Amino acid sequence: MSIKLTQSQVMLHQMVTDFADKEVKPLDMLIDKQRDFPKKLWDDLVNTGFLGLVLPEEYGGAGFDTIASSQTIYDLASRNASVAFTLEGHYKTVDQVLKYATPALKETYLPQANHRIFGFASTEPQGGSNVMGHTAKAVKEGNKWILNGNKTMITNGGLAQVYCVLLKTAPMELSCFLVDEDMNGFKHGKREEFIGMNGTPVGEIFLEDVVVSEEHLLGKIGQGVEIGDNAHYDARILMGAIAAGITQHALTIAVDYAKKREAIDTPIIQLHSIQTKITEIAIAKENTQLLYQEAAKLKEAGKSYAKVATMAKSYGSRAAVTAADHALQVLGAYGYSKEYPVEHLIRDARALQLAEGSLEKMMIEIAKEVVNEGEE
Ligand SMILES: Cc1cc2nc3c(=O)[nH]c(=O)nc-3n(C[C@H](O)[C@H](O)[C@H](O)COP(=O)(O)OP(=O)(O)OC[C@H]3O[C@@H](n4cnc5c(N)ncnc54)[C@H](O)[C@@H]3O)c2cc1C
Repeated sequence: MSIKLTQSQVMLHQMVTDFADKEVKPLDMLIDKQRDFPKKLWDDLVNTGFLGLVLPEEYGGAGFDTIASSQTIYDLASRNASVAFTLEGHYKTVDQVLKYATPALKETYLPQANHRIFGFASTEPQGGSNVMGHTAKAVKEGNKWILNGNKTMITNGGLAQVYCVLLKTAPMELSCFLVDEDMNGFKHGKREEFIGMNGTPVGEIFLEDVVVSEEHLLGKIGQGVEIGDNAHYDARILMGAIAAGITQHALTIAVDYAKKREAIDTPIIQLHSIQTKITEIAIAKENTQLLYQEAAKLKEAGKSYAKVATMAKSYGSRAAVTAADHALQVLGAYGYSKEYPVEHLIRDARALQLAEGSLEKMMIEIAKEVVNEGEE
């Protein structure tokens, strides 16, 4: 660990690793096969307070910062990435409600974030990257907003009960609204048949003449792009932590296996070619960890963290896929088998190159920042 944790963060880290070893690790393969979390694990996550981790104490949460939440996400992801991915979707959405909602909306909804899941809905069937091409809209009638449209590929879609939704309020203007599944006209749609992160449902929602008060607008009219970007940057720190967690998971499996498996009368861990793969995985884990921890530190120091957070996800998402592939090779044919957990690490890691901004879009964003810095 390259970051200095406070005493309460150390205690949290201890609690989370104990929980993850006891309650999450043994279920890793089952979660992938069943495409769901067992009910008991879900109840345990809620009852242990994982949902309220980043909520201030005044809303019934534990009040931890991003350094602690990213550490927690890493600790969980190194046992099962999907559990961490579900919490990441929740935390980044709660962060936007905290930052942009009116005091009255916070009073109503933030205490609920301790037991109800939140999700952030931007993507539409016709595309995710081009947000100005979206068609779902909000129209003002008197002091109410009428919401209509379809959002898809939402992390926790179907599981979440509260959504922050980006909607057009003018042809070239996006605004963000808080929507509750209990509202008239709200419907959950199908779950995507994705290849990885199988415990986390990713699905669609429909809004058909959903009526909300002005209170449900987050920030100001036209602030949707800013809120969406902010959600991306917050999420990318946690995605970096998931990538590092998957890479650590690959390392653990590869080292354990290589110590036991024999070839030419010696454990394969003695072979230079195997040691090289294990070294590559270990370096990738450290690099990813340094990046997301740096981004978390910058965020908590009130400094600009978008570039480093984007680097954490961009680098980490590719490094995790490569690391899982190295681990597969260390396990030989068993690595290619569904009887061993390595293959699902590749499928899980692959999601990180799409969710919260595609790899291509992130590369463009990083390049812009770097070029601008060069001009200063
Ligand atoms: C596991 C998972 C979870 C997700 N969770 C959420 C969520 O919680 N909320 C949500 O709103 N969405 C979510 N998404 C959707 C995700 O944000 C989109 O997949 C992503 O924005 C890309 O959009 P798209 O898939 O429609 O691809 P498109 O936008 O159609 O792009 C297709 C390809 O073209 C490239 N491309 C597009 N535009 C450009 C450009 N300007 N320059 C260079 N290349 C470009 C893309 O990189 C991609 O390779 C999730 C997706 C996945 C896989």
